[in-house]
Amino acid sequence: MSSLRSVKIVATLGPSSNDPDTIRQLCIAGVNVFRLNFSHGTHEDHKQSVINIREAEKLSDHPIAIMLDLQGPKLRIGTFENKTVPLQIHQKFQLDLNKTPGDNTRVYFGYPEILKSLIPGTDILIDDGKVLLRVDELYEDRLIGTIQSGNEISDRKGVNLPSVCLSIDAMTPKDAEDLSFGLELGVDWVAVSFVQSADDIKRARAKVPNWIKIIAKIEKPLAIKNLNAIIDAADGIMVARGDLGVEVPLERVPGIQKQILQECHYLGKPVVVATQMLDSMVTAPTPTRAEVSDVANAVYDGADAVMLSAESASGRHPVKAVQIMDRIIRQVESDPHYLEKLRCPFEESVCSAITSAVPGIVKRSNVSAIATLASSGTTTLRLSRERPNAPIIALTSDNHIARYLCLVWGVYALQVKNLNCSSIEDWIQMVRRIILNEKVVSSGSYVLIVGGHGDAQSDFITIVDL
Ligand code: PGA
Ligand code: MN
Repeated sequence: MSSLRSVKIVATLGPSSNDPDTIRQLCIAGVNVFRLNFSHGTHEDHKQSVINIREAEKLSDHPIAIMLDLQGPKLRIGTFENKTVPLQIHQKFQLDLNKTPGDNTRVYFGYPEILKSLIPGTDILIDDGKVLLRVDELYEDRLIGTIQSGNEISDRKGVNLPSVCLSIDAMTPKDAEDLSFGLELGVDWVAVSFVQSADDIKRARAKVPNWIKIIAKIEKPLAIKNLNAIIDAADGIMVARGDLGVEVPLERVPGIQKQILQECHYLGKPVVVATQMLDSMVTAPTPTRAEVSDVANAVYDGADAVMLSAESASGRHPVKAVQIMDRIIRQVESDPHYLEKLRCPFEESVCSAITSAVPGIVKRSNVSAIATLASSGTTTLRLSRERPNAPIIALTSDNHIARYLCLVWGVYALQVKNLNCSSIEDWIQMVRRIILNEKVVSSGSYVLIVGGHGDAQSDFITIVDL
């Protein structure tokens, strides 16, 4: 086990990184989860990536998960005759249902139902908010607005309508196709974009087998209102700062990020901080000080994982970006004050009565690791929630569970073939044998064993020496 790092790294694959050799190097550098962004690339590209990841996983000393990120209802304008056109502040600009290429007065915007839900004065943000168009006049087949800011507009840029509550499904027909394709490929996590309510997650869950884990991407104002219900319904959360920073005023993003991290930690659900973490590394070989600080602060605030997007998908230094993330995380984890700030309130349940005792036991004894059996992952997640100062070794015979836990703070899944045992005594002996065999900790060390609700294990806790 080379990578005893608690906070996990998610790396997006793309043209800079989806070849077998780079994927292998990314694994060695410490990637735990690969994200396939279905907003880009062909099905053939993604299929090849999955094959390459599974090959690399076989050579790796830790399980590797694959996250399919669905595009969701991302609105886009059409194309222009010359790809990009200049804009003047205060000029009029039209969005319409006419598919012919646009110019500096108009462009295609193929959503008749959305034209109906706008009113004069609505702000339309184009290209991550770089262009602001304010609606003046509305017709069935077009709208005319005034450009408030922005100096150019180009092909297929994204459109955000932060002030409008869109009654659209978080899953589009394209997403449904991508999802069934991804399920056939054997992905582990599915990320749902532009989630607005817990129902969006429930609808997605109805479309996937029960071992698939679902991430809710928080990038809409309504999702922040419904945060607790969404966290409850999902298996994990992504702070999707790209669209979030367009949908709400930019300066609100850091506070919202802190709020989401805390709620997820309290509720014991893994959370990923995403987008622009080391953005300057798309071109530069080293990050800015501010970016280093951003990654470190996400870790200090309790993130389970941090994510690379363009840095690893289309940037010049994908492997270096992972190495730098790894260094920043390890530095924070070596700070003696890091875990002190991550204590969370007690929960009233038997499972929590046991798991919440763990950090104290670890602190007062000299255990080198915590071992538990992960059949569904519930006890393992409760253990992770307590942020103990020792690695959580989760034994499982199920590779879906092993890959699920790739995103969870402090957990190292160890996949073992036979986990049958008839008594607690048996189970303790088995854990001892596996941990010694796998050289997770050296002989002579102490290991804390935590029993969950599985067949042979009722709730118990014990320390064994190896
Ligand atoms: P995206 O999601 O890259 O799919 O847009 C992440 C974000 O919005 O931050
Ligand atoms: Mn997004």
